[in-house]
Amino acid sequence: MTVSGVDDLPERTVRVRAPGKVNLSLRVGPVGSDGYHPVSTVFQAVSVYEEVVARSAGEFGVTAEGPQAAAVPTDDSNLALRAARAVAAHAGVDDAAHLHLVKGVPVAGGMAGGSADAAAALLACDQLWGTGLSRDELVTIAAELGSDVPFALVGHTAVGTGRGHLLTPALSRGEFHWAFAVQDRGLPTAGVYAAFDDLRGHDAQPLTDEHDVPLMQALRAGDATALGAALHNDLEPAALELDPGLAEPLAVATDAGALGVVVSGSGPTVAALARSRQHALAIAAAFTASGVADRVLTASGPVPGARVVGVGD
Ligand code: ATP
Repeated sequence: MTVSGVDDLPERTVRVRAPGKVNLSLRVGPVGSDGYHPVSTVFQAVSVYEEVVARSAGEFGVTAEGPQAAAVPTDDSNLALRAARAVAAHAGVDDAAHLHLVKGVPVAGGMAGGSADAAAALLACDQLWGTGLSRDELVTIAAELGSDVPFALVGHTAVGTGRGHLLTPALSRGEFHWAFAVQDRGLPTAGVYAAFDDLRGHDAQPLTDEHDVPLMQALRAGDATALGAALHNDLEPAALELDPGLAEPLAVATDAGALGVVVSGSGPTVAALARSRQHALAIAAAFTASGVADRVLTASGPVPGARVVGVGD
């Protein structure tokens, strides 16, 4: 039996969806005096989504669901929570919010799931509290939260420089199809960069934008074969050094006829570019059959960035 009373008043909720990403190219320069590695990267947002449901609450809190929800911190280090607090601080809002994360993007998988949560939380809280922040203000707050957060807001295809947070939209035609080999074990981004320094440290080349000319041409032409040949990740040798087992999904995807295969970001997710949606399903089946992934996903890209998908009372 429900008893009507103040506590039963319907709560206002805002639901936002934000995509994960693949780095089609990730080039890393020598570490700077600020301790950060400059990068030059080409992001593509893919149809693997995080959903954040924000509702008004007496205090800030976060919960998560999904296959790897247990690995998501629910303390103040949670990126979505940090995003909500940042909106409140920026706009001078006294209210708090509870955030529920429906995690579709692998956790610590190199596909920026936490950053997608942060981008979604920014938009959700802006809408929940009616703070009316501009797109530019949201992007500025996003960049303070993490290098990949601005791209999760913007989506589609973009070149990222600086720490990856300075974005320039890139032209891309058509739809590309992907299969992902997901591992339950994550790879810590900081550890992968440390391994990169050990392997390449002093030889890391200063960044130029020449290397990705073929990749940008492939995107403009919608040429999946040329894009597959141009995929590149400077962090891949470091990810393989830390997790030699990743050579297996790379080999399985190549045997299954992938147009290109690459470790996504700092790994350990392996991203295989397929000829078609059907071919992506076939590569995913090959990952599963050979036992080289704990889970498989298929997706397409590019897709838009964070979007409000529902507002309820
Ligand atoms: P990136 O590619 O941006 O380096 P990632 O995809 O490898 O990130 P995430 O899932 O974004 O990894 O999270 C990395 C770490 O951040 C996690 O291991 C976790 O400790 C912490 N974290 C903070 N907030 C979140 C969140 N909302 N979801 C998942 N992890 C989070």
